[in-house]
Amino acid sequence: MCRRASSPRFEMWWRRVESVGYCAHPIQLVGDDLGGRRHTVWTRCNNRRAAVCPSCADLYARDTWQLVHAGAAGGHHDVPAEVATHPQVFTTLTAPGYGAVHNATATTCRPHPVGPAVRCRHGNPLRCNSIHTVDDPVVGQPLCADCYDYLGHVLFAWHLPELWRRFTITLRRAITTHLKTIGLSRDSVRVGFVKVVELQARAIPHIHALIRLDPPGDWRASDSGDHINHGPAAPRGGGEPRHGLGPHPGWSSPITATELTALIHQAAGRIRIDVPAGDDHRDQDGVRTVRFGTQIDTQALTPETTTAANDPVAAGTATSASSRLSPRRVAAYLAKYVTKSLHDFGITARRLSAEAISELAISDHVRAILATIAKLSEHADTSLAGIGRWLHTLGYRGHITTKSRHYSTTIGALRTARATWTRQQLTIHETQRNETPPGDVTGPDRRPHTPLDPDELAWEFDHAGHASAGDRVLVISAALRHIQARITAITESRSAVRGNPPTPPGGG
Ligand SMILES: [Zn+2]
Ligand SMILES: [Zn+2]
Ligand SMILES: [Zn+2]
Repeated sequence: MCRRASSPRFEMWWRRVESVGYCAHPIQLVGDDLGGRRHTVWTRCNNRRAAVCPSCADLYARDTWQLVHAGAAGGHHDVPAEVATHPQVFTTLTAPGYGAVHNATATTCRPHPVGPAVRCRHGNPLRCNSIHTVDDPVVGQPLCADCYDYLGHVLFAWHLPELWRRFTITLRRAITTHLKTIGLSRDSVRVGFVKVVELQARAIPHIHALIRLDPPGDWRASDSGDHINHGPAAPRGGGEPRHGLGPHPGWSSPITATELTALIHQAAGRIRIDVPAGDDHRDQDGVRTVRFGTQIDTQALTPETTTAANDPVAAGTATSASSRLSPRRVAAYLAKYVTKSLHDFGITARRLSAEAISELAISDHVRAILATIAKLSEHADTSLAGIGRWLHTLGYRGHITTKSRHYSTTIGALRTARATWTRQQLTIHETQRNETPPGDVTGPDRRPHTPLDPDELAWEFDHAGHASAGDRVLVISAALRHIQARITAITESRSAVRGNPPTPPGGG
C-alpha cells in the first residue's frame, strides 16, 4: 500500500481505479490504434457476489432494483406507468422440510418436539429452548444430522430449475383454463415474471418471484428499443420516459390479483418430479418425488403512492412503517438477495473437487450436503448427470435471476445506458482538460490528448485483478467508503424531505 501510494504514477493508477468504480477484480484490456500507439483500459468484473467485488455487487443490486421496480411500478426504463394497475403477486416457493433445523425467529427455537418422542432414535433432543440471533452459527443446522434427509435436500436443489420451469407452464395452463371458464379467449392475458433464487439458512435454495398479468401482444407500445435515447439516463438530456399507452389503453385484467394468487397456489401444489431414489431406504418402489413445500407464500402488490422512481437499494431500509407490499419494497428485497452468496457458508465461487470437502472451513451441515452430492456423482443415473460439477453451488445449477422477456428492462440495457453516459462524461472531461492553459498542466498524465473512440480499437484481454494485495486493500476500502457514503446520503436526503431528524448510519 505504501509503495503504491508513494509511487509517482499513483494518480494515473487511481484514475483507472475510479474509472471502474473501485472494482476489486478489474479486467485490463490493451489495444493498438491506427498510429501504432498502445492503449490500456480497465473494465469492471461485473460479479454480483459481494464477497468477490463489493463495488460490482452493489451496482448489480442497484440495477436489479431498477429492473424490478420498473417492472412493478412502471414509469421508468421505458415501462409504461399503467403496469402498476396490472395484477401482481409476490410469491415465495420454498423447499419442503427435510428435518428439523434451528431457527432464528426471535422466539424460542423449538419449544415442542415434532412428535410424541422427546428424543429422536439417535438419542438427540427434538427440542431447543434457545432464542437464536440471525448470526448464530447454529441457525439452519439440523437438530439431528442423522435424521436430516440430505438426499431429499440435494435432489430438491438439483431439480429446482425444472420445478420452476414446470411451475410456469402449469400456471400458464391454469390461467388459460380459468379464462375459458369465464368465456374469454385463451390468450387475453399474458404472464410475466422476474425471479430471484436465494439460499435459506438451511443452505437450500428457494425462489422469490414477482408474477404479473399483462394484456396480450406487444402492450409496451414504446418498446421500440430507443429507451437509451429517451430514458432517464439519456444522452440527449433524458426527461420523462415515454408512457406509451399501447394497443390496450385502460386495459383491466379479467383475472384479479386474488384469483392469480389462488392459481399460483394451485399450480405450485401440483408440480411433482419423480426421480429414481437409488438405494435410499426411505422410499417406496425406488422412486422419490421432488416437489415444492406446502408453505407457499403469496402477497398481492399494492401500488405505491410516492412518485419518485429512481431510488436505489437503500429504499428497503427507509420505507414508511407500513406492512403493505409496494413495488419499492419488493425491489429492495430482490436487490438484496442477488448479492448474497455461498461465501456465507464458507464456499468459494470456484468449482470444488470432492477431495477438497474435508479441508473446507464449513459447518457439518454444509459438509454433509457436499458429501451427499459427491456420493451421488459417483453412481449417478442420467437425471443426475454432472452433479459433481456443482459442489460449489450446493447442487443448484440454475441462474440466480431470471425474467420473462417482456417483464421490464434488462441488466444489459441498463449497462449500455450507463456506458453511454460514462463515455459522454469522459468526453466532457477531456474537452475541459484540453481547454486548460498549458502552463497550468502538471503531472505525468495531464498532457492534452484527443479523446479516443474505444470502438475503433480491437481490444485484447491482458490480465484480470489487481497487481498486489496492497492495491486490492486500497481499492476495496474505497469501494466500501463510497457505498457507505451513498447510503448515508440517501438516508439523510430522505429524512430532510420528510422533515425528520436524520437516522444515524446503519440505524435505518
Ligand atoms: Zn468488480
Ligand atoms: Zn435451536
Ligand atoms: Zn436423529
